[in-house]
Amino acid sequence: MENAILGHQNIVTQLQNAVTSERVAGAYLFAGEQGIGKETVALYFANLILCEQRTEESSPCGECRACRKLKSSNHPDLRIIRPDGAQIKIDQIRELQQQIFYQPLEGPRKIYILANTERMSNPNNPAANALLKTLEEPPAASTLILLTENIESILLTIRSRCQILTFYPMSIEELTLALMNRFSIDKETASTAAILSRGIVGKAITLIEEGTSETETIPEILEETDPLAAFRLAEQFVEKGLDSLDELITWYRDLLFLQQGVPVELMTHTNALDKLQTLVPRYPRIRLQQAIQTVFETKELLKRTNVTKIFALEIMCLKLLQGR
Ligand SMILES: [Zn+2]
Repeated sequence: MENAILGHQNIVTQLQNAVTSERVAGAYLFAGEQGIGKETVALYFANLILCEQRTEESSPCGECRACRKLKSSNHPDLRIIRPDGAQIKIDQIRELQQQIFYQPLEGPRKIYILANTERMSNPNNPAANALLKTLEEPPAASTLILLTENIESILLTIRSRCQILTFYPMSIEELTLALMNRFSIDKETASTAAILSRGIVGKAITLIEEGTSETETIPEILEETDPLAAFRLAEQFVEKGLDSLDELITWYRDLLFLQQGVPVELMTHTNALDKLQTLVPRYPRIRLQQAIQTVFETKELLKRTNVTKIFALEIMCLKLLQGR
């Protein structure tokens, strides 16, 4: 079976070595941003442990009984525990504690993947302390793989009992190449997805699957000249949500970069370069700096206060459209 993982080669190699040398630890903690590939690697690791006939390259065969069961999420020795609502609950950990002492049914180990482990860090949630008990006395034939987006919020006592593997974003070049190979897409599309996702594999894949070309349409507000359009545009921002303000800032920043002669590779919307070039003469530097500040301030205002969204966005759009 081909290695389905993009990037994180050092971590994958480390896990492969652990399996082939029969030194799989009782507990791991995978730390890194959402979408970076922690769960993909954890599933690959579980597959590697449970596969009944690993390949010579220390990869899962993809064909044995265990591999087939894993593919259909049907292997009795692998369990994935996710937050039940906002938190991982004590009942979920208690159930784990009861099951983990039984021998594995088919494979050499019982494997538990706990997603979003940070979601038991609430001081009123007894799940973390219950989990700690299991980590203190882990049954021999078991492995816990804890995943977290925020390692700082994991109890130190839990952290100290796990082998910690930190996942970093891929370099833009590396991710661009990997995406081109995986999806048979051209370099421009791949590099746009890599840049927009800041090297986070999962985000880049979502961008490609949803079509990055859509994100390369210049926001209307950059081309609009009529201040009265502010009211219509504000409604669009309400519909698109607050994330669209972050996106808007990247466009003004690109214009600023173009004007300052910053290398094109540093820009976000390289696919819209021609169009952006035609807009540069309309935007003096001070205007761009003000625009970026206006969008930032509006976003903060909306996050921190209960100001009516549409009013704040109307004022933002009016400010952005004035002064041309
Ligand atoms: Zn197999």
